[in-house]
Amino acid sequence: MAVDSPLSSPLGPPACEKDAKALQFIEEMTRNAESVQQRVLAEILSRNAQTEYLTRFQLNGATDRETFKSKLPVITYEDLQPEIHRIANGDRSAILSAHPISEFLTSSGTSAGERKLMPTIKEELDRRQLLYSLLMPVMNHYVAGLDKGKGLYFLFVKSEIRTPGGLLARPVLTSYYKSDHFKTRPYDPYNVYTSPNEAILCPDSFQSMYTQMLCGLLDRHQVLRLGAVFASGLLRAIRFLQLNWRQLAHDMETGSLNSKITDPSLRECIVKTLKPNPELAQFVRHECSKDDWEGIIVRIWPNTKYLDVIVTGAMAQYIPTLDYYSGGLPLACTMYASSECYFGLNLNLMCKPSEVSYTIMPNMAYFEFLPHKPNLDSTGFDFTHELPPKLVDLVDVEVGKEYELVITTYAGLCRYRVGDILRVTGFHNSAPQFHFIRRKNVLLSIDSDKTDEAELQTAVENASHLLREHNASVVEYTSHADTKTIPGHYVVYWELLVKDSTNSPDNDTLEQCCLAMEESLNSVYRQGRVADNSIGPLEIRVVKNGTFEELMDYAISRGASINQYKVPRCVSFTPIMELLDSRVVSAHFSPALPHWSPERSQ
Ligand code: AMP
Repeated sequence: MAVDSPLSSPLGPPACEKDAKALQFIEEMTRNAESVQQRVLAEILSRNAQTEYLTRFQLNGATDRETFKSKLPVITYEDLQPEIHRIANGDRSAILSAHPISEFLTSSGTSAGERKLMPTIKEELDRRQLLYSLLMPVMNHYVAGLDKGKGLYFLFVKSEIRTPGGLLARPVLTSYYKSDHFKTRPYDPYNVYTSPNEAILCPDSFQSMYTQMLCGLLDRHQVLRLGAVFASGLLRAIRFLQLNWRQLAHDMETGSLNSKITDPSLRECIVKTLKPNPELAQFVRHECSKDDWEGIIVRIWPNTKYLDVIVTGAMAQYIPTLDYYSGGLPLACTMYASSECYFGLNLNLMCKPSEVSYTIMPNMAYFEFLPHKPNLDSTGFDFTHELPPKLVDLVDVEVGKEYELVITTYAGLCRYRVGDILRVTGFHNSAPQFHFIRRKNVLLSIDSDKTDEAELQTAVENASHLLREHNASVVEYTSHADTKTIPGHYVVYWELLVKDSTNSPDNDTLEQCCLAMEESLNSVYRQGRVADNSIGPLEIRVVKNGTFEELMDYAISRGASINQYKVPRCVSFTPIMELLDSRVVSAHFSPALPHWSPERSQ
């Protein structure tokens, strides 16, 4: 099955003519990384020369790297807010890009509690498509025979809105699945999905998941690979099976489709293929009714060769659970991408998750790298040396060093800080390969939600107002992303100061505190709770008085400096978790869903 060798240069023998071209393209791009980057920058700067943004910095038509670097500032999303607002409100002049902004992509990164809006242009779809078209040729290099079966991929569209100026705003994958690039993709024997487009494109998440699971079960012997975008999504599908196998088996037995599937085109499409299959129904019942679900994936889909899910970054927390359900199948992390831009791909697909490195494709955008050192403050500037740090070009990064990714895109982001910290692990030809270290300022994450320290602090403050009538307050807190349950949930440990023990906060109050925290968290979190069901109810665990002092004693016993000790606002280290959990006096869960609607509040 797998050829367990890192992809050396040149890439190994291709599976077919189409693959040969794709692999050749990767070779060309990575060999000529420097000149490709120069060309990309010149293209972006010359086509956007007359935009308001570039004119403001008096680039005067220059397209060379030196002028670009000397005149354009390195920016964050917040710096671009005024321009983004104008575009969202209908200003169609060439503000950031000479090409018309076709839509906004809503990032899971937030600003002031709302998803960031990333402007994009039509042709970016082609660029994304190009990157997608490279994935299977690389995979075919490692796993043979993928044209002999299908992929069971759980893919979903999410809600979209129109901005006041009439532009669509939706997640990048929703944009892609709804595009003709995806919907009318030519038949490719190496890339056949069990899920029909009707199921993927159904906006109702239950109907979409139900029919995708049903089709996957019907085709169970043909399934050669199973996937979702993120590990959390695949686990949600397993959980869905746990909750719905009886109904699914009933549908297979009788050949009649669950009446909850009401979307007409989806119903029509599934009914056409669903025939009574009592044998399959019996098999599903037999496997799913067992208490032990270890290895369930390979039991139901015995020909699966690997799982195609991202398990790098925050998703690494799901590796043990995936291993449990899949009996240790290889985990392939194929690509590294964002709403701003698709960055690159993993050329060594069968490596261990901890060793995954992404090769940035130099044709996707112009890439720069801000050296990342622990003593840089949150602005990224090193005040110990006073000079602004020098950004490094793609081909000049050094192995072993960490950088923050900065991009200049065709859609008009210029020297934009993505917020990802990457470490260079090596090179493929002259293109560097990066290990994804983490996203900056993310404390808690279960699915695509990203909660930072300030958001958690505000949430705790808002919730603790409810303790006032009990004359109590939160003296210390920390948090943990609990992924033992599916879906996972946030746990916040509270140590309380209760002044009147006859009136200490009761369960009702603490439950309301849980909900108040959820109401304070950002819209991606609340969407996960309400619409996607990808995050479970927030939990407060009240710990005994003195617990946080014990936590400090523990840290100091392990070498922390007493003067510099700060309470960690998120914990995952097992001994610390054990200490905290052994001091819990009560646990309380959010009793309801927080407020969320697709509309933006700003
Ligand atoms: P979004 O803007 O919502 O599409 O999220 C993009 C972000 O997701 C990136 O900037 C990364 O922080 C994270 N991400 C995307 N791909 C990967 C990956 N392969 N491994 C780890 N994190 C990733």
